[in-house]
Amino acid sequence: MIVLSDKEIRSLLQMSEAVEIVEKAMIAVSDGAANLPLRSAVDVGGPNKMGVMPGALMPGNGRIDACFGVKLVSLFPGNPDAGYSSHQGAIVLFEPEHGSAVGMMNAGLLTAIRTAAASAVATRVLARPDCATLAMVGAGEQAEQHLEAMLCVRPSIRELRVAGRRREKADAFASHAAERYPELTVRVFDDVRSAVAGADLICTVTSADEPVLMGEWVAPGTHLNVVGASIPTKREIDEETVARSRLYVDYRPSTFAQAGEVIGAIESGRIGREHVLAEIGEVLAGKAAGRMAADDITLYRSLGIAAQDLACASHCVREAKARGRGVEASLE
Ligand code: NDP
Repeated sequence: MIVLSDKEIRSLLQMSEAVEIVEKAMIAVSDGAANLPLRSAVDVGGPNKMGVMPGALMPGNGRIDACFGVKLVSLFPGNPDAGYSSHQGAIVLFEPEHGSAVGMMNAGLLTAIRTAAASAVATRVLARPDCATLAMVGAGEQAEQHLEAMLCVRPSIRELRVAGRRREKADAFASHAAERYPELTVRVFDDVRSAVAGADLICTVTSADEPVLMGEWVAPGTHLNVVGASIPTKREIDEETVARSRLYVDYRPSTFAQAGEVIGAIESGRIGREHVLAEIGEVLAGKAAGRMAADDITLYRSLGIAAQDLACASHCVREAKARGRGVEASLE
């Protein structure tokens, strides 16, 4: 069994590769070629939880390596302030022929990359091709990966707008982005409303509990990736945003169980279940319609699924073996 650190994942999984891998995984999922029990969250004291995400990509799916495994991830909301990642954990990967465990790896960076890659896949198929302005709401680990992912699929982006909670964190993210991507004009805003006004593309990647984005602020034609709220009690966007949008999701069963904004809008009667137009894999496979008009607002509600982790983990193990890697004892 190969053991891979975050440092190795960085060299084994480029964002452009992750986008292609996740796209294939999402098509396989919507084609019924994956078994994905709902993620469970175990209380481990105070506000902290351990997420358990099992899954299998079935043999013979014809698109992506068959494998199965589990991601175990600690969700400690206070961590970023203490200098730790909010998502730490490990993925254990098994091969499907004899059920051998073939890889174990740090889940931190892989989770951040696969989540951003999923948003990129949705953006590539749903956003207008000529997106020039990207608004990033949130300035943490996901924001960093999302910026790279958005530029991967929309190299037409010329302006990055950033709105976070604490100004100094947003400033630090913005100056790092300006250094890394000198071709971008980077601007920091003190409020989300100003940051998103007229933006072509919006990513909400916050740890907020209550909506930070209101539907009335979103311009016609925008594509949104709504990523941050992972549990049903959290909401990043208001009901108006949900109702105004053509709504796409990663996986219907988890959306109806865990996506607070969608569950809330259904419970209040604002939308019906049919407002969820499709899983992104159905759009990618040409089985469901995506954007219909240039002034549609399209919304990808991401929760994250184990199939994304397993597909990326399988790629990392294959690449590591190809580079002659053996067993290593460190998970740092
Ligand atoms: P970080 O803690 O690194 O970053 C969170 C960011 O959100 C910070 O910049 C924070 O600002 C900002 N923020 C918090 N509250 C508000 C608010 N009310 N208004 C504006 N900005 C706010 O977390 P990550 O980047 O690692 O993760 C972000 C979210 O994504 C988490 O909630 C996580 O659960 C979720 N996630 C979703 C996945 C998916 O597949 N959909 C996968 C992995 C994570 P400040 O620093 O100033 O407090």
